[in-house]
Amino acid sequence: MYDTSWDDDRPTLSAEPRNETYLSQTYRNSNFSNRGNQRSSRGRGRGSRVINREPNQNNWRDENHEIIRVPSKLVGKIIGRGGSQIEELQTRSSAKIQVTKETVDDETIVKIFGNDSQILRAKELINEVIKEEPRRSESVKTVTQAINTTIDSKPSTGPFNWFKFVKECDALQDEEWSKVPPIIKNFYEEHPEVTAMTDEDVSEFLKNSNNIVVDRTFKTENSKKIPKPVITFEHAFHNYPEVLEEIRKAGFEKPSPIQSQAWPVLLSGEDLIGIAQTGTGKTLAFLLPALIHIDGQTIPRTERGGPAVLIMAPTRELALQIDKEVKKYYYRGITSVCVYGGGDRKQQVRVVTEGVDIVIATPGRMNDLCEAGHLNVKSVTYVVLDEADRMLDMGFEPQIRKVMYSLRPTRQSVMTSATWPPGVRRLAQSYMHDPIQIYVGSLDLAATHTVTQVIRMIDEKDKETELMEFARNLGPDEKLIVFCGTKAQADYLSVELSMNRIPCAALHGNRDQCDRERAVADIGDGTVKILIATDLASRGLDIDDITHVLNYDFPKNIEEYVHRVGRTGRAGKTGESISYFTRKDWGQAAELIKILEEADQFVPEELYDMANRFEAMKEKREKEGQFMNNRGGGRKFGGRRW
Ligand code: AMP
Repeated sequence: MYDTSWDDDRPTLSAEPRNETYLSQTYRNSNFSNRGNQRSSRGRGRGSRVINREPNQNNWRDENHEIIRVPSKLVGKIIGRGGSQIEELQTRSSAKIQVTKETVDDETIVKIFGNDSQILRAKELINEVIKEEPRRSESVKTVTQAINTTIDSKPSTGPFNWFKFVKECDALQDEEWSKVPPIIKNFYEEHPEVTAMTDEDVSEFLKNSNNIVVDRTFKTENSKKIPKPVITFEHAFHNYPEVLEEIRKAGFEKPSPIQSQAWPVLLSGEDLIGIAQTGTGKTLAFLLPALIHIDGQTIPRTERGGPAVLIMAPTRELALQIDKEVKKYYYRGITSVCVYGGGDRKQQVRVVTEGVDIVIATPGRMNDLCEAGHLNVKSVTYVVLDEADRMLDMGFEPQIRKVMYSLRPTRQSVMTSATWPPGVRRLAQSYMHDPIQIYVGSLDLAATHTVTQVIRMIDEKDKETELMEFARNLGPDEKLIVFCGTKAQADYLSVELSMNRIPCAALHGNRDQCDRERAVADIGDGTVKILIATDLASRGLDIDDITHVLNYDFPKNIEEYVHRVGRTGRAGKTGESISYFTRKDWGQAAELIKILEEADQFVPEELYDMANRFEAMKEKREKEGQFMNNRGGGRKFGGRRW
């Protein structure tokens, strides 16, 4: 009855599109009864694709088709009065849509015949027809009511049944999410030049791109193949000329290593974990796919009721930094706002409630706004946790978990982290779906390659005099960041420099937000040439033209060293770092030597001596510990028994 003829001349999409729908399940030419009960919480089950085209034939039985399940109560909407709706859907998609009599669990089997693009289009149209607007306030009320009912029904004696409570909330959440319109996540069409790359070509390319390692974090037998990396901007964005134009304006030569691998992954709709630091181009790696994602959704932007993209970052500086990067790229009028603790809350609330596409936030302020009802995160379909390890270090785990819990489960998720500690791994396990993980070297050694690293073996008491000397001799075109171990030290040095008539700005967590913003602006525009900072400023800050980094106090771990050094030598420029290294820093000597040697830098003989002495001391203590252990006595000291 609904047969239409096949127009075999229509173009087909070479990439297999993936459309997150709230249609129950889709299979390609599959024997449904064999798969009937397969259900994944995420991506829909997919069978193999069989294309058997006979031009202009009317027999659809063996054609390329997909089976979807539609809630039976909504089938009438697809058919429409007198079949008018299904006729229209077929005309608009050029696919054949066959509503069968088969039902499974109150869902009706619907078959869609056509080529890939026709099937995709038909599914989109069906989704549009059957979607119901989410009744948000009602749902929220229901969840709140459930919480209250559960708490009220708490027996006066005995423990509160959290298990039951969580289960009830989950069920309500599931119900709520089943009402929201579908997300489209796949925007990727592999470029023929990428398709032509052999596995050897791919391995060779990854090896030469800062030795990228890419894999599924929690690999399973069912994990899909990882998309190949792209070598040029055109490879990634050949379907998005406006994005290519923005990249051209930025003047970049080629994708950075993380971008090469992240773009195909993210444009395909996969979840991604980037083990990479600032300076690697990670912001643009998740940003450009986000822009395409925002624009590619079916619901018009003005009707989404909230942002499509949420980016959480540990510090105000990093959040502002990301916002600055976002605002550099114009794409179809997409707007962003940065919200952070300490900023003008009233102003932030106004912008947020007016409606923006991208919200960049620190987790604390994000929670504030959600709880106060100023920000609706139900509309978020793409979330980024930037510098996740740092956010956990700063104690933001509860806030992150709260926000993530409020987000739609089928969203696309991105996480970046400089390290891969158990806390970050747990976050990934809780909130990501079969993520693909990209390591850009275990540390961001790429940044340190463009920096001349000088290690100054020094006595603690001589540091200040040396710093004054260095600061006084700074050239007119030079800019310096001085890193200190404590806020008090940073304050002290900034006062001392000022007393010596050397202008500087100070940046650390105890300063008011407006002072911090002014400090970043002053060093950025050259009002001052010297910024005194704590580690707060070592990550995320992208101040142009920093020619020197001076580690006044050597950082507590070697990763922080790499971050700090990475504040100079950015975006292809060269820079110099000077690190004061005292006897008390000897525990870091061995790790530092590794970094210096890897980057082909001069290693002072004294540093080798320190590393050897520290190693000998460790061995000696371990032996003594062993000895005391064998005697079954001794007191605990630094994890060993004495
Ligand atoms: P990020 O790692 O995101 O902090 O980026 C560091 C800097 O690299 C930013 O100033 C970016 O604008 C710049 N950048 C991003 N992608 C590229 C690229 N492909 N080539 C050169 N610079 C880039």
